Amino acid sequence: TGIYHSLVKLGTKHEIPTKHDLNTANFVLSQLPHAGLAEAKIAFIDLATNKSVSYGELRQSIYSLASALFYGLEVKKGDVVFVLSPNSILYSTICLAVMSTGAVLTTANPINTVSEIAKQVRDSGAKLAISAPEELHKLVPTGVPTILTSRSSDDKILSVEELIESCYSSPEPLPRIPVTQSDTAAILYSSGTTGVSKGVVLTHANLISVIRLLLWSADVSASQDDVFLAFIPMFHIYGLVFFGFGLLCIGVTTILMKKFDFQPMLDAIQKHKVNNLPAVPPVILALVKHARKVGCDLSSLRRVGTGAAPLSKEVAQKFRKMFPWIELRQGYGLTESSGGATFFPSDKDAKAHPDACGRLLPTFFAKVVDTETGMPLPPNKEGELLFKSPTIMNGYLGNLEATTATIDAEGWLRTGDLGYIDENGCVYIVERIKELIKYNGYQVAPAELESVLLSHPLIVDAAVIPVEDEETGQIPMAYVVRADGSKLSEDQVIQFVAGQVAPYKKVRRVSFIDTIPKSAAGKILRKDLVSQSKYQLVSK
Ligand code: AMP
Repeated sequence: TGIYHSLVKLGTKHEIPTKHDLNTANFVLSQLPHAGLAEAKIAFIDLATNKSVSYGELRQSIYSLASALFYGLEVKKGDVVFVLSPNSILYSTICLAVMSTGAVLTTANPINTVSEIAKQVRDSGAKLAISAPEELHKLVPTGVPTILTSRSSDDKILSVEELIESCYSSPEPLPRIPVTQSDTAAILYSSGTTGVSKGVVLTHANLISVIRLLLWSADVSASQDDVFLAFIPMFHIYGLVFFGFGLLCIGVTTILMKKFDFQPMLDAIQKHKVNNLPAVPPVILALVKHARKVGCDLSSLRRVGTGAAPLSKEVAQKFRKMFPWIELRQGYGLTESSGGATFFPSDKDAKAHPDACGRLLPTFFAKVVDTETGMPLPPNKEGELLFKSPTIMNGYLGNLEATTATIDAEGWLRTGDLGYIDENGCVYIVERIKELIKYNGYQVAPAELESVLLSHPLIVDAAVIPVEDEETGQIPMAYVVRADGSKLSEDQVIQFVAGQVAPYKKVRRVSFIDTIPKSAAGKILRKDLVSQSKYQLVSK
């Protein structure tokens, strides 16, 4: 039939709960009293400050913050709460307390610019923001009421820390708020297959399903005794599902880093005897290139995960050779599928299929379709990957056109990734056919950079494409048509864009061109530009 499905059944232990009125926060909280786990067991440690929170304190602070948000700040079902913070020991508490009230979570990269943040606040319709003190200035211009995550010198502004200790502090969960699994739980941002960033609407059913999948995979690869290191940000679906929700249900300890830094990462692994490291391909490359030179001790590491961008087979091979005691497991997924879609349940399986990025997770169906005709293809034939599962988003917020272009009438999600599935059910990603550029695993939308470029008075037309880069995966390159007689330089263009976008989105290479190649319908012919850039870079 051309339809693949996971050969693994979830089994009664991990079955997706069908209870209609289950909310993600209540689901996670219901898993917290782990069998035999002491209340004092540490859930999170902040690497920089050494501050920590135990499982007992975590549950208590979620109840208290939920009460304060609900009774004190009148956060109600359906209100959108915007969280702007790097990883912190309060991040999970905030997300789960927001969801306990029936409100909807939206998160953003704290290094985004004032205008990027204003756009998301507007688009998501946020009623309240919760901000790290150092990012507060970015929310002030939006006018959205804001509280801080932790206390700051500005004592006029309430903080989550104060709210947890306030008169609303409660040892009990909120009375049940009528939230159903089909209600929206979170709006995360992704540019999908084309255009600018859009709000990915994820329901409670989506998030509970993906947490169930993580618990299923943890059965084969994680336990309460594990120590994880988290530099993967919790504002991205990867970090949110792993560190924000899923690992709490297992009872592990997670060491939090605000951002990735190579040497502090190595020091943290040694100091805290980290055995699990969810990572992205540039980190695997850095370990292969530099770990030996700096003479660090990685003997505690048992498992390193990678996802969010393609991992080169050579780098994977080198990693396995250099660190034979570490299991390297690749996963693949999208924000639109609430994170994971494929994963290797065992290291043996992963080693036997070094080019693949895993097998379909339980509950997943997949199709590989011809990119021209849309017809399903047999095993080993390349085409666009399509998925169906309980984790597939509801759609893009307020954007029916983008939603129907991405999810068809039968519920198949177009991934925008070219790949194939072999006769054993292993999934291979060959190329990204959607516009999306991934810099260090972060999304960069060409359409967004093109609109910034077009706002320059001396730029008549522009197109942005990815250029492969060993260290970071891909970098954005701009093709620019200058106004007649203009002497605009490459550096000026780079600086102009850098002044308006978050640092990871910067255009890093510019080429001037007479016209941007376009189809009869006016669509940029990106493939032509990609071929041209390859030729230009080789002949340089
Ligand atoms: P995001 O929504 O930010 O998670 O981005 C999802 C996209 O990242 C996918 O559609 C892929 O293009 C890419 N991606 C994620 N994981 C992998 C992987 N293991 N291999 C190749 N590409 C990946």
